[in-house]
Amino acid sequence: MDDFDVLVIGGGIAGMSLAYEVARAGRRVALLEMESALAYHTTGRSAATWIGTYGNGPVRALTAASHDFFVQPPAELYEEPLSSPLVMLHVAPAGLGETVQRLHEDVVGLTPEARVVDGAEAHRLVPLLRAGWVEAALVEPGALEVDVAQLHQGYRRGLRALGGELRTSAKVESASRSGERWQVRTSDGQELSAGQIVNAAGAWADEVGARFGAAPIGIEPRLRSVFMVSAPDVDPHLPMTMSLDPENPFYFKADAGQYLCSPADETSSVPRDAKHDQLEIARAIDAINEATTMGIRSIRTPWAGLRSFVADGSPVIGPDPVVPGFFWFAAQGGYGIQMGPAAARLGAALMTGNPVPEDITGTGFSVGSVRPGR
Ligand SMILES: Cc1cc2nc3c(=O)[nH]c(=O)nc-3n(C[C@H](O)[C@H](O)[C@H](O)COP(=O)(O)OP(=O)(O)OC[C@H]3O[C@@H](n4cnc5c(N)ncnc54)[C@H](O)[C@@H]3O)c2cc1C
Repeated sequence: MDDFDVLVIGGGIAGMSLAYEVARAGRRVALLEMESALAYHTTGRSAATWIGTYGNGPVRALTAASHDFFVQPPAELYEEPLSSPLVMLHVAPAGLGETVQRLHEDVVGLTPEARVVDGAEAHRLVPLLRAGWVEAALVEPGALEVDVAQLHQGYRRGLRALGGELRTSAKVESASRSGERWQVRTSDGQELSAGQIVNAAGAWADEVGARFGAAPIGIEPRLRSVFMVSAPDVDPHLPMTMSLDPENPFYFKADAGQYLCSPADETSSVPRDAKHDQLEIARAIDAINEATTMGIRSIRTPWAGLRSFVADGSPVIGPDPVVPGFFWFAAQGGYGIQMGPAAARLGAALMTGNPVPEDITGTGFSVGSVRPGR
């Protein structure tokens, strides 16, 4: 039996970043991932953005506290930049102009540079938009395009450098407790023991919790589809354009010489290897063709991932209220990349009994807002 201080279950951004931070606090850590490749599920399928106004209060606080990590990443983990600037344009079609005012009121405290513009200015910023389609829009400068593969790899290198172990094709299948420690058995026949378990299993968080006798947190995986559209001369600095029409949502942005487009779908799903929703993609093609001159006739490389939420939309970070030595790090929703660095520092502080970093509490963030069983 291999003995560790902490076993982290899940090799996405949540598990990898927390494993690194816990190893940095001096713990002997092993990370277990059921797939043969790390970051195979949601982490490898994101739209790779940092948007300061996205999500509810706790999400925004953790997102803000992660900003500097993306702009000036720690030199011991990254040699290359992790992000580049991105402008967001939230667009409202005819009849929905008021939603832009409401959004502005909601976010102006977070991003004072955010400004409301009319349809003509929206068209100037994103010439692809059909003249007259936008009634009003909110410009949000200061968003970021994130290199998610680099983000994940940096944490992985850092974990290895601190002596942390990574084990892939190792699905945690059963667990038992003896004394103060957990014994865990994996699908490839390993037996490991640890004082603390971290559940960073994304869409599978409640399934993993059940193996340790924990009550479900009510995780709800929601499918989101993405597709690429090739076009000549895609402007790499094009603002990311997101429709505010709740009946017909979509977004698109420039990505490596193509357009990355999404129906912004949120269909409830079971935990699984997610496949894109063809009907939602067909709806988004119609919506984008109506709003823009992109003229989509064919798409490339569609994919999908599961964004996993609990009812209040906040992440679940902290020790289980009943099961000893079992720590939740789940429900990252649609924000696991952008709030990842601060969420990992918060999780490590709560696990190791260190104070929560001041840059996190300084944003008005309360640990109670993410506590399991809240
Ligand atoms: C289309 C799309 C766009 C998105 N865009 C953004 C964005 O722009 N910005 C942003 O911040 N976020 C975005 N997100 C959300 C973000 O990708 C997620 O919040 C984040 O990746 C979740 O990370 P995770 O580590 O919790 O989950 P995952 O990456 O899914 O990792 C969980 C891991 O646990 C493993 N696992 C499960 N059960 C077991 C077990 N029993 N034993 C061992 N391993 C197990 C799984 O195999 C998996 O690898 C987007 C998501 C999608 C789908």
